[in-house]
Amino acid sequence: MKDLGLLFNYLKQPRRIVLLTHVRPDGDAVGSALALKSYFEIKGHIADVIVPDDFPDFLNWMFQSDKAFNHQKNPKTCFAVLARAEVIFFLDFNALKRIENLGEDVKKLNRPYVSVMIDHHREPDYFTDYMLWNDKASSTAELVYDFIHMAGDADLINTEMAACIYAGMALDTGIFQFSNTTSRVHEIAAHLMQKGINIEQIHNNVYNQYGENRMRFVGFLLAEKMVVVAEHRAAYMSITMAEAEKYKLNNGDKEGIVNLPLAMRDVDMAVLFTEDRDKIKISFRSKGDVNVEFLARNFFNGGGHRNASGGSSKLSLEDTVKRFVEVLPEFTQQQNN
Ligand code: 5GP
Ligand code: MN
Repeated sequence: MKDLGLLFNYLKQPRRIVLLTHVRPDGDAVGSALALKSYFEIKGHIADVIVPDDFPDFLNWMFQSDKAFNHQKNPKTCFAVLARAEVIFFLDFNALKRIENLGEDVKKLNRPYVSVMIDHHREPDYFTDYMLWNDKASSTAELVYDFIHMAGDADLINTEMAACIYAGMALDTGIFQFSNTTSRVHEIAAHLMQKGINIEQIHNNVYNQYGENRMRFVGFLLAEKMVVVAEHRAAYMSITMAEAEKYKLNNGDKEGIVNLPLAMRDVDMAVLFTEDRDKIKISFRSKGDVNVEFLARNFFNGGGHRNASGGSSKLSLEDTVKRFVEVLPEFTQQQNN
């Protein structure tokens, strides 16, 4: 692994930089990429963001969010942008498989480029020249802040960049309430506030953007579909494609739903199964020591963090749920050992 000092040196000349996020990019991924895009542009580089697929509409307020290239929608343009990159940043993920087809494009590149991972997920693959990786960091946005600091450019953080970094940290910490909320997170948030961000506006932009359909859907899900497994202090829900269609859900509408059962005193683990065209997407959340990363990694081809992980299954929705219910006792037992 090379020393980041060498990278800062390489970036003394204007470069063509491409910033990539994971699939179904969230606020941390998109905020990190757009903050870095602004930063690199201020430094005189050309910086393009490529996302593998759509990000939720509630991130559209982020500065230059309309400039991000969407690989699913414009694969050819994205490959052309990628092919001329001198530096590629991999943001908020740590294994090429996390960007699916876009990862295949990266593997096809036949000219040399400098690669940099900035990430906070457990168990990284070591596939880049440089890494700013720390699984104790709250978010990739926090590490982006550190990166700009290390480059000696904290003064260049403007209001737009500060808002992107703040939103990334806020979203990944559940608005400063999860166990990844360190004193450093609050220090950085304070510094970002000094850059003139409007916190109320950011929170309204991110959280208070639902349509009536989404609220009705959550009511339906909690009333009709949530299953509580009291014995294992777990609760799970599933969303079929037909239900998503009936309630006209867009991808942002599913955000945050997985967390809801954790508001119950007697539940320490919440799971959401979402039926997709070719697979079942699974989200895991937990409180305290319950390590859902272990569950996601060992049983559902996924990973993430101790208290927030994701995975997928090629079984049917019904069989995926069945498998979860089957492995639950084994998982609880392992947790207790
Ligand atoms: P979410 O449930 O919000 O999709 O994801 C929760 C966390 O787990 C995020 O930090 C996300 O990056 C990670 N994650 C989600 N899906 C996967 C997956 O399929 N594989 C891995 N390794 N991590 C995932
Ligand atoms: Mn993140």
